Amino acid sequence: MDTPPTLRCALQQAQSQGLARIDAQMLLLHVLGRPANDRAWLIGHDEEPLPAPAAAVFAELCRRRAGGEPVAYLTGRKEFYGLELGVDARVLDPRPDTETLVDWALELLHEVPAPRIADLGTGSGAIALALAHARPDAHVLATDRSAAALEVARANAQRLGLRVGFAQAHWLDGVDGPFDLIVSNPPYIPAGDAHLRALVHEPIDALVAGADGLRDLRAIAAQAPGRLAPGGWLLLEHGWDQAAAVRGLLAAAGLADVASRADLGGIARCTGGSKAGAAGPAVK
Ligand code: GLN
Repeated sequence: MDTPPTLRCALQQAQSQGLARIDAQMLLLHVLGRPANDRAWLIGHDEEPLPAPAAAVFAELCRRRAGGEPVAYLTGRKEFYGLELGVDARVLDPRPDTETLVDWALELLHEVPAPRIADLGTGSGAIALALAHARPDAHVLATDRSAAALEVARANAQRLGLRVGFAQAHWLDGVDGPFDLIVSNPPYIPAGDAHLRALVHEPIDALVAGADGLRDLRAIAAQAPGRLAPGGWLLLEHGWDQAAAVRGLLAAAGLADVASRADLGGIARCTGGSKAGAAGPAVK
């Protein structure tokens, strides 16, 4: 009988198939039933053998990863803002860039006691759950049009023991305010964008927003001011080249203090504005 390959050998083989080292490590830890943050263990034990059944599962996951499936869908989990979320093909794979939106939201809410927050198009619940975790005093409502996405988000809230309300809604249709903060990472990729070819495994409704990618950003900008408390803020994530357009939408909707923030890659990725009024967040 052949001797089983070592963990190091399995990782090298995955990389020779074109997998990024980090992706191969995440998949191998998953196959071994170890936590995602155990990469140090992997490095310290790379001379250990990978038993044949685990090797077969690993090979299959590597094949799927090489075909473009997100690692998060293959392992069923993704870390976002320090929380481990359950994730699958019913929801967008949460991006680290979206943590920029959470950082900004938390700054704005710093001096607001028991803030009322709405996260529109919550998907896995990433933003809503990160905010609820950081601000246990907040009243967080998470909406999505997709019942399947809400199941994923609800399961995450339950497993993490976080208190978030859920509602099936298209943006703010049928949702009452007022909110101190409305936040959203809506679809914003233009239909026909070449970028979509790399995203075929994710739900298209979570990605594409009309010919110019602004359809949903436009809808939210139009609805939000009517649901914001005086001094409340709307924060939106958007595409790499949409910051000026979104600032225009927020200004046209009557919001003040309109500004954009860069993501981890230095790209203006979030834009926000506030509703005029005395109460509400003091930080800009
Ligand atoms: N940022 C994602 C991407 O470009 C898209 C997320 C979205 O449409 N909200 O891969």
